[in-house]
Amino acid sequence: MANILVFVEQREGNLKRFSLEALSEARRLADAQGGKVAAVMAGSAEIAGRCTFQGTDCIYYSNHPALSQYSTEGYSELVVGSIRNFQPDIVLAAASAMGKDLLPRVAARLDVALAQDCTGISWNSDSSWEFIRPIFAGKAFAVVQLVGVPQVATLRPNVFPVLEPVKRAAELIVLDEELKLDEIRARVREVQKFSGQAVELTEADIIVSGGRGMKGPENFRMVQELAESLGAAVGASRAVVDAGWMEHRFQVGQTGKTVAPSLYVACGISGAIQHLAGMSSSKYIIAINKDPEAPIFKIADYGIVGDSLQVLPLLSKEIKKFRQNT
Ligand SMILES: Cc1cc2nc3c(=O)[nH]c(=O)nc-3n(C[C@H](O)[C@H](O)[C@H](O)COP(=O)(O)OP(=O)(O)OC[C@H]3O[C@@H](n4cnc5c(N)ncnc54)[C@H](O)[C@@H]3O)c2cc1C
Repeated sequence: MANILVFVEQREGNLKRFSLEALSEARRLADAQGGKVAAVMAGSAEIAGRCTFQGTDCIYYSNHPALSQYSTEGYSELVVGSIRNFQPDIVLAAASAMGKDLLPRVAARLDVALAQDCTGISWNSDSSWEFIRPIFAGKAFAVVQLVGVPQVATLRPNVFPVLEPVKRAAELIVLDEELKLDEIRARVREVQKFSGQAVELTEADIIVSGGRGMKGPENFRMVQELAESLGAAVGASRAVVDAGWMEHRFQVGQTGKTVAPSLYVACGISGAIQHLAGMSSSKYIIAINKDPEAPIFKIADYGIVGDSLQVLPLLSKEIKKFRQNT
């Protein structure tokens, strides 16, 4: 039996794609083992109702003002409240910035174990759950069994496919009254947003990243141009961030963001292990590097040995032409 609770993120009423991935994986596991899927989220009944299209059997929500901004304490109270009610075997969330902050607090409050950033979950022959997670900067995979119930895990974005939306008759359960939200000790008073790129790096289906081989910040317009022609997000290596060419929010890797797009284009990036840690689960990798021995070519599906500064404008031009003709 697998009753699974999924913490769902929304921004301005839109459910995050990585949360839909987690809901879809929960549905697959629950269908295979027999069980129900519940969602829990902060937001109005109308927004919560949108989860019904993702194969959810019941949805816990709260629109309490204390939850209008994310806080670890407030949101963990919401999730723990829904756990008390639903009694799940497994609790999942996306391994987003929020999910990676929230579920450790939830696991600590329940005194159970947690597996972060999983790329697989399966039911094994000993009749227990196994969680697969990359370790040693993606060089190996650990198969983890968790002690305690519920089992708590975050799922790496862009790894689990989203199911076709199917509306189910889901029960909506408001949680406001049983939550101790007045006891929250720290409140977020203001969130200052910066105007980021149109496609968020961790959610992008295509990423074009530049490294030190781009030679200078002025040449990043070529990376930007190729990204625009592909509808992609822009990323960067740490060398570029350390040099001050790009802000840290663009950094991919061990000390930057972990991404798993369908296509990752690495331009002038050597392929250091710390960079690979953040992008090696990409479905297809294209590397452009003038050094044929660069380590990035070992994991690339397609490689171009050449000068990025010459290759990128040609690629952008051809892709734009192709798009206009199709
Ligand atoms: C604890 C720790 C954490 C780290 N975390 C991260 C992290 O999160 N992300 C990260 O990226 N790194 C991280 N690093 C740094 C990492 O080890 C590398 O130093 C870094 O990734 C190198 O960036 P790069 O590939 O852009 O530069 P380089 O290693 O200098 O490589 C530049 C590449 O560009 C090629 N090149 C040069 N000119 C051209 C040209 N004209 N056209 C095409 N190719 C060209 C070169 O052949 C070379 O392969 C970390 C390091 C440590 C110790």
